[in-house]
Amino acid sequence: MSADAVLNGQSPIDVEDRHGGGAYRPAPVTMVRGEGVHLYDADGNVYLDFNTGIGVAALGHAHPALVQAVSDQAETLVTCSAGYFHNDVRAQLTWKLAEIAPDGLERVFLVNSGSEAVETAIKLARAHTGRPKVIATDRGFHGRTLGALSATHKRPYRQPFQPLVPEFEHVPFGDVEALQDAVDGETAAVLIEPIQGEGGVYPAPEGYLKNAREACDAHGALLVFDEVQSGMGRTGRWFAFEHDDVVPDALCLAKPLGGGVPLGATVFRDEGAFGKGQHGSTFGGNPLACRAGLAFLETIENDGLMSNVEDVGAYLRDGLEKIAADRPEQCREVRGRGLMLALQLRGKAGPLLKTLLTDHRLLALSAGPTTIRLLPPYTITREHADQALNAIAEALG
Ligand code: PMP
Repeated sequence: MSADAVLNGQSPIDVEDRHGGGAYRPAPVTMVRGEGVHLYDADGNVYLDFNTGIGVAALGHAHPALVQAVSDQAETLVTCSAGYFHNDVRAQLTWKLAEIAPDGLERVFLVNSGSEAVETAIKLARAHTGRPKVIATDRGFHGRTLGALSATHKRPYRQPFQPLVPEFEHVPFGDVEALQDAVDGETAAVLIEPIQGEGGVYPAPEGYLKNAREACDAHGALLVFDEVQSGMGRTGRWFAFEHDDVVPDALCLAKPLGGGVPLGATVFRDEGAFGKGQHGSTFGGNPLACRAGLAFLETIENDGLMSNVEDVGAYLRDGLEKIAADRPEQCREVRGRGLMLALQLRGKAGPLLKTLLTDHRLLALSAGPTTIRLLPPYTITREHADQALNAIAEALG
């Protein structure tokens, strides 16, 4: 049945605005199809997608390997609850994730979103240590469910939902002394994004993650890295923390992991494993999402995509630096790593994002009020980077 028939002549925009949950204010554009690095709207306009559904479509859209894997699995077995039966495809993904994670991280709990991956890590830390306190950072973003939201810093996200989960504290990101002061014998976990995403694309200052590791070790707290946005190849390594010489006790993953199919994971140490019945998820680890995850991981490896991320990421970054250097009155700085990049403006980012969308058909996203963020597919070429750079340069004027 066509959308027109179902919607009885109403536009998708009208229906979603009227009947959606009210939490979103999307652009008045209806996307209907994706192919490679491009999205197509209902009027047939083509967009260069450097938004990728907040860093999800890392293989681009409708990648043949993902299409094949998902359609094969849809014909084979879609659901099989992990609490009841083993499954061949889930086992393969679990094995693969344990293999690419650093030595020592060999347990994998599969979930359906970033927030759930964070919830899992918080519960794990409390169960493992028997302690209540979780320390997160200013500007940090960890999700919207109540546990993850308690770790998220932004006041407007938190305020309407008080009281949140008790015993969560925030310390300034990058401030070693503040972190050392906050961690004590009551601390279950320190939760850090190695590169803060929503907060503005801020990589952890050199040495910070190592100092966090030491503070946790000194008090028996778990070090948890939230790599929901920065992980799975986005920075040219599987995980952003690999750029520093440090290994966490638990790692939260999601966004690109299923190539667009909802899939998240918390990866952690054997000695921290859950006790029987301590955690669970109906959909977590379903064979459909796991097969998508396997196709994603295999494609990254087979197509050498992480070296493309490094190469095109460096090229894109250089271009952004030039744009910023030529326009010091408009641009503050360029930040990020690999294909997780941001240009901070001196003014608001909103008008620039709107011009990029409507006049240049470039999809980007914000990261705080004055920063535009680029999270393109790992498959982009230098030509795609040039298109985006030209659009940004022209839009800035
Ligand atoms: N952690 C980080 C670092 C994120 O960027 C996000 C999503 N932007 C989340 C957690 C929450 O993920 P989800 O929206 O899938 O629940």
